[in-house]
Amino acid sequence: MTRAFITGITGQDGGYLAEQLVAEGIVVHGLARALDNDTARDLLSRAPGVVLHQGDLGDADYLGQLIADVRPDEIYNLGGISSVAYSWQEPVLTARLSGLAAAVVLGAAWKLQEDSGRRVTCLQASSAEIFGHAAGSPQDESTPVRPVSPYGAAKAYAHHMAGVYRGRGLHVATCIFFNHESPRRPHAFVTRKITDAAARIGAEGSGVIHLGNLDVCRDWGWAPDYVDAMVRAIRHDIATDYVIATGQTHTVAEFAEAALRRAGLGDGWRDHIEVDAEFLRPAEAPDLVGDATKAHRELGWESTVGFEELVGRMVANDMELLQRSNG
Ligand code: GDP
Repeated sequence: MTRAFITGITGQDGGYLAEQLVAEGIVVHGLARALDNDTARDLLSRAPGVVLHQGDLGDADYLGQLIADVRPDEIYNLGGISSVAYSWQEPVLTARLSGLAAAVVLGAAWKLQEDSGRRVTCLQASSAEIFGHAAGSPQDESTPVRPVSPYGAAKAYAHHMAGVYRGRGLHVATCIFFNHESPRRPHAFVTRKITDAAARIGAEGSGVIHLGNLDVCRDWGWAPDYVDAMVRAIRHDIATDYVIATGQTHTVAEFAEAALRRAGLGDGWRDHIEVDAEFLRPAEAPDLVGDATKAHRELGWESTVGFEELVGRMVANDMELLQRSNG
């Protein structure tokens, strides 16, 4: 029976991935840093049978031993600091968890393959942030790596290490993910922050969302689609890099407009947004939009949820949560 190991299993993508793999009948082990009862119960109800390990991704000895003990066939490295904004506050921790931990995972996978004589396959979750001030638009697998944030730099190291271990003979695929969202997105991300606030403003008829850079462009897709891309990429005959993106780009202001309109604010939406310097970043990847032609061609992968639909689903979810909490 196939065994999978997921780092970052309690994150948005880790949860969707665990669900997908369990539904396929795969034995899933996952590593999580903090595992409170609610999180564990929630995950187990959606992905029954998942084996959860609580531990520190930054502890190389622990992580290496865990992979040796679990003996997975498929390893998905999703763990680490996921918020670019937070990476500016904790650049060293970000390097350790989003960068160096990949070297530990890949080293352990290589050793397991050597010792067992079985093929071990790996998927590194890369990020469009590695392109930073991108040399061109849209970005594809050949776009130069030029990060502008601590998160992007850490992910760039991990991305390069995936290539290094691929060269050594390990089956390591990467998905270079552009932004991907869902109702499970934490509020640290601008999409969820906006949809949560839009639901409240819609219900109360007043209120303001304090945001940073409104003009930055992002390519926002539906997270479960991106998780599906990982599974296709790790199982493809040839391990390589894939940009996973919708190819459509929108500004933060456009996201806020769509969310506020969906929450019933109509043409008055602009009155509910204010720029607050607190949310501006020291440097910014100004225009991220991906060309996923290679994933379409080689993996048969498609993005299934467009921008308006994505915003609509997230706002509807937050409206429902608000209604429920108001009794
Ligand atoms: P990221 O692309 O992985 O950094 O995802 P985020 O959702 O955190 O941010 C997306 C974009 O929204 C970035 O370019 C941010 O600068 C911009 N942004 C504007 N206002 C905000 C805000 O209030 N919070 C966050 N998180 N991002 C903001």
